[in-house]
Amino acid sequence: MKTIIDFFFNKLKALKSLRFLIFILLFIVGVVPSVLISESVIKNYKSREISLRTTEVVDQGRILATRLDSEGYIMDPDNPILENEMTLLTGIYDGRIIITDGRFLVIYDTYGLSTGKTMISQEIIKCFSSGAGSSVYDPDNRYIEIAVPINNNQTGETEGVLFISSSTDIIRDSEDVIRRKSGIITVTLAVFLFVLALFLSYLLVRPFKRITLAIGSVKEGFGDAQVSIPDYSETEAIMNAFNSLMERLKTLDESRDEFVSNVSHELKTPLASMKVLADSLIAADNVSNETYREFMADIAEEVDREDKIISDLLSMVKMDKSQTAVNAEDTDINAMIELILKMLKPIADKRGIQMVFESKRAINAEVDKTKLTLAIMNLVENAVKYNKDNGWIRVGLDGDHQFFTITVSDSGIGIPEESLDQIFERFYRVDKSHSREMGGTGLGLAITRSAVLMHRGAIKVSSVDGEGTTFTVKIPLKIAITG
Ligand code: ADP
Repeated sequence: MKTIIDFFFNKLKALKSLRFLIFILLFIVGVVPSVLISESVIKNYKSREISLRTTEVVDQGRILATRLDSEGYIMDPDNPILENEMTLLTGIYDGRIIITDGRFLVIYDTYGLSTGKTMISQEIIKCFSSGAGSSVYDPDNRYIEIAVPINNNQTGETEGVLFISSSTDIIRDSEDVIRRKSGIITVTLAVFLFVLALFLSYLLVRPFKRITLAIGSVKEGFGDAQVSIPDYSETEAIMNAFNSLMERLKTLDESRDEFVSNVSHELKTPLASMKVLADSLIAADNVSNETYREFMADIAEEVDREDKIISDLLSMVKMDKSQTAVNAEDTDINAMIELILKMLKPIADKRGIQMVFESKRAINAEVDKTKLTLAIMNLVENAVKYNKDNGWIRVGLDGDHQFFTITVSDSGIGIPEESLDQIFERFYRVDKSHSREMGGTGLGLAITRSAVLMHRGAIKVSSVDGEGTTFTVKIPLKIAITG
């Protein structure tokens, strides 16, 4: 049973092959018209031959009817010369001649079977009533049958009817010969087309095989070489798409390597500091209690730093997940911002920085509260970290029926124009030592941007170096999760 299923499954697979379809198409397009044409040619030939034969027999019938009248055959059927001629004629047309007189009595029959019998048919009545003849073709018995009235030349009256039936077997024989010959031609053509279709289908599908081979050969690694199969515009398009996909994968691969090396570096820095601190404590003799405390406090600070980097990395990984990871809930955005400012007030107060919340209206939106809080918190925290002492921070909130906008402006050190494009990159910092001093990891803005994008929102930055920075976040009130 299983083998039968496998057999049909394999057959179905073959039906799906482009090569098979091209082959079948070429074969059918070649063979079917040739069969149809030869059939219609034979049919035409046959009907033309029959109509020619009918005309010929009718002509002969008319001539004979005139002779029968002029010889007065109806009145005196004893005419061996005429009968001889009629026998000859039936020989030529492979048929039979019957003559009836005005009383529907058969006075002559080349077969001699009906002589003396009465014969009434539609054709005879028609001949007597209208004086016109008729002709029919009987396809079942393959006979042409004609009826010609024998009219009296002087009185114009119909005295009798002449019937001629002629077999068309000879036409059938020639038709058979033609059919046989055309059959041979069709079979030869079919064989030729079979081979041609086989060859052409192989030729036409070859570029696709080359694509498979080319793709197979690059799966080992990201080579620099671009693979090109320019045989058809379609294959070229496939390969262009493939090349750009490879390009993208290569970039992703490189950025992953860079990320791993950045992470290792960031994680190693606090460890190196701790090692130096610990080594110097070990190396020194008679270290005072106070120095111990100082060094241990420094080590604890480095541990905190390491911890911050790791928790930032974890947040970032969470944010990198798809949009379905958004845990949307109806949120009072005003309350959310007020809470953020409250949490950050102590560190702002420490540097005498004034924080103001300017809300234009009450906003309720469907957002992932935890993620958005983290995103906005990073912005406000940066506004504190990169501010001047006794500076100010303004957080604005506004919205319409579709979006709400949060702005975070500060009177801080600003960001140089050439760095504006890069600040959202992971681990990018304008001034590494300043960021480190402030406890930064270089991940804050990357996390913020991911969270905003997860909400199908946008984030913009504008800054004047030395004067201050403004971040603008625009988010839809409802996120349509399309998966
Ligand atoms: P960090 O942990 O270093 O703060 P972020 O990703 O939050 O990392 O920010 C990246 C860099 O962008 C910061 O190191 C800083 O140089 C710059 N930056 C961010 N926010 C501000 C701001 N409000 N004012 C000035 N510079 C900023």
